[in-house]
Amino acid sequence: MSLNERVQEELEALEAILMDDISITYDEQSCLTLIKSTIFPSTANEVNKQYVCVTIEVKLPEDYPDSEPNVQLRNPRGLDDSTVNDLYKSIKEKCTEYLGQPVIFELIELIRESLTESNLPTCQCAVCLYGFSEGDSFTKTQCFHYFHSYCLYNHLETTKRHYQEEQEKLPAWQKSTKGFQAICPVCRESINCDVEELKTALPPKDLENAQNFEVTKDLRVLQDRMKQLFSYQKSKGGIIDVEAEENKLLLITETSDNGSTDTNEDPGPSDGALESDAQRGQRFDYRVSSGLNNR
Ligand SMILES: [Zn+2]
Ligand SMILES: [Zn+2]
Repeated sequence: MSLNERVQEELEALEAILMDDISITYDEQSCLTLIKSTIFPSTANEVNKQYVCVTIEVKLPEDYPDSEPNVQLRNPRGLDDSTVNDLYKSIKEKCTEYLGQPVIFELIELIRESLTESNLPTCQCAVCLYGFSEGDSFTKTQCFHYFHSYCLYNHLETTKRHYQEEQEKLPAWQKSTKGFQAICPVCRESINCDVEELKTALPPKDLENAQNFEVTKDLRVLQDRMKQLFSYQKSKGGIIDVEAEENKLLLITETSDNGSTDTNEDPGPSDGALESDAQRGQRFDYRVSSGLNNR
């Protein structure tokens, strides 16, 4: 059987086993086969008990399986960096062990097994920055982000209150008719939570046991150093004063008016003259347009 046929056979087998859970495409430009699959722990189809997941992306070089595939793990959810690094290590070992043989299904199974074993988020709660200890009540959002139920409840209540306060300040015609929509504090996807249930959750253990915050001598020294650094950066124009920025006038200036030979991009305050409105306008203009170019 030719190399190509063997790979073809492996890919067909993958599609037959994983069906919709795998996507196999061929990139004409790079002549590489790209395989993608999002892997969840095995929880006997209880989807709400899957707390972690990761997407594997495999690029097959032309001489695969005689050379190792290029494997990337994307969008890990509920997994911290060290767990992802451990996965990479096991993947590398498996690839070396299986050199010359089909390995992709083995990789997917390896990751699935590892996710099943550690089907508990190893990341931190983005609200309180503590991890998840046994016994902590936590919530997984639809977007696979994790929070202590206690923290998420407090976050949702605060954002809701803030939203209502902002709405009250608006004139009637500007008020939103849609009402408050909770969003994930990490990725801003809309989320739907049972707030009444979250409300009953106890605070996470680490938060309970945390020492009361105290300003120590070291912190005071650090504070002083930061204060000096702040004044220094401000004096150099490195701190943007948001209020002053808002009151600035946006002047549309034609570069040709000032002559195109003017290459002095930053006149700075050193020449003793204050920056003219036109210069300021030009700079602003530049910032706006460069922002657009980056999109
Ligand atoms: Zn928390
Ligand atoms: Zn999210």
